[in-house]
Amino acid sequence: MKRSADRNKGDVPDVIFDTNSGVSYKKGKLLGKGGFARCYEFKDQRTQITFAGKVVMRASLKPKYEDKLRTEIKIHKSLSHPNVVRVYNVFHDSDAYYILMEKCSCLTLSEWNRNRRGLTEPEVRFIMRQLIASVQYIHSKGIIHRDLKTGNVMLDSEMTVKVGDFGLAAQLHSDDERRFTMCGTPNYIAPEIIATRMSQYKGSQKKVPLVGAEMTPKTFFHGVGASLPQGVTMETLIRGHGYAADVWCIGVIMFVMLYGRVPFESTNIKEIYKRIMRLDFMFPSSTEAPVGDEAKDLIRCLLKINPADRPSLKAVLAHPWFKQWTPDRLHRRYLKEPPEWA
Ligand code: ADP
Repeated sequence: MKRSADRNKGDVPDVIFDTNSGVSYKKGKLLGKGGFARCYEFKDQRTQITFAGKVVMRASLKPKYEDKLRTEIKIHKSLSHPNVVRVYNVFHDSDAYYILMEKCSCLTLSEWNRNRRGLTEPEVRFIMRQLIASVQYIHSKGIIHRDLKTGNVMLDSEMTVKVGDFGLAAQLHSDDERRFTMCGTPNYIAPEIIATRMSQYKGSQKKVPLVGAEMTPKTFFHGVGASLPQGVTMETLIRGHGYAADVWCIGVIMFVMLYGRVPFESTNIKEIYKRIMRLDFMFPSSTEAPVGDEAKDLIRCLLKINPADRPSLKAVLAHPWFKQWTPDRLHRRYLKEPPEWA
């Protein structure tokens, strides 16, 4: 759930009680804060097992968001995969909803990236293999995540990759079903999501709200639309989004983990959207980041502007970049310092 932080009011009690199972959980340290949620350690007082508990205060939720939270819980609870954060128990009391999940005790990819600013290719392959396995599984269940980004990919104590935060996920009823809502995080949003949103307002004089910015249809269709990459037509981008939107995000994550920054960087969100639509990104020079040609080729394949041109995740794993060495496991010290092979 992504909403403003000040709505996350109210004290979380030191002990919470699940009336269904009769289990109480003791609150520990704060693990992180999201838009609506706060995440604490919670220890099962019977088994002493520690979970990560996402707490959403009911007072902070408008009825519409309560429905969204229920969808998030339903989708997340239905998933069971080694690379997806596991939900173990969900309950509520009069004050809050509690979602008890497996605890990912290392960092998010975003924090890891902040520490190291560009990882080595074998480390990124290690992450990508597990991230792709996770997303293949999620898609096999008919679910699009729609908010894949470094901040939503965590590492547990064994450095196993775990995808979390299903707050924007959507359940499809057939593989070719398309969704039409504007959602995601600006740096990671796929072009078809932006274009579809704008097409819903084509001809209007008003500014169209996008996530974190606004744009007039005129600027979009006559400005941005006129500078689409060669061979791409707006027609192909205004038909909604499906699984391929997650494939785009995987491309952005790969770029970020190799280069330590996002591909469509700008302090101005509208400018980010314009750059995404123009596919306006460049690979930093090899003196800045020594990344090989096969990695760059794979990023170009993932960041195809037309969703129909993006590869399937199976095809991604067959790319020559994945034929190169991948470590079986990574040491936790690499969270802070480069590995020996760097
Ligand atoms: P929101 O949906 O409000 O964005 P998130 O699900 O992203 O909330 O959780 C907020 C923060 O809590 C995350 O950025 C992360 O730091 C922490 N967190 C979430 N889930 C876990 C987990 N399973 N283990 C450890 N920390 C977690």
